[in-house]
Amino acid sequence: MPASRAFRRYLNTPPDTWILQALALPSTSAPHTSPCTRCGACCAYSDTWPEFGEEDELDGIPEHMCDSDHGRMKCDGDRCVALVGGIGQSVRCAVYEGRPNVCREFLPGTTACNQVRRYFGLHEIAAAHVALREGA
Ligand code: SF4
Ligand code: SF4
Repeated sequence: MPASRAFRRYLNTPPDTWILQALALPSTSAPHTSPCTRCGACCAYSDTWPEFGEEDELDGIPEHMCDSDHGRMKCDGDRCVALVGGIGQSVRCAVYEGRPNVCREFLPGTTACNQVRRYFGLHEIAAAHVALREGA
């Protein structure tokens, strides 16, 4: 399934049945103003994420981080194995440059973002942060 369709499906699904489609975490070189560097909630919300889309080129993702049977990133519990750091503290994506499209399309400050943040006890953030994410 193309990543964009998967993401739309995710947004249209009630929160209590979400299949998380992940996010795009900034790399360590990303602007420090991005809230994602101190969050990571959407990378640790569900073991069914992030699924690979038809457009994804997986060259940048090590084989041991791929769940080939399910066509998605491998998870430890609900947490993507590429997530480095502590949720709500300091995090980064170990495969940022080659991350799946669903991760790139998950933007901070959206309704989905804030619902996942609340799940981890983090405060909501404003939609204005979307612009920051686009620059990450
Ligand atoms: S701020 Fe939103 S998009 Fe960024 S890591 Fe947290 S939940 Fe994901
Ligand atoms: S690949 Fe990176 S951005 Fe995507 S869910 Fe895993 S840690 Fe998050």
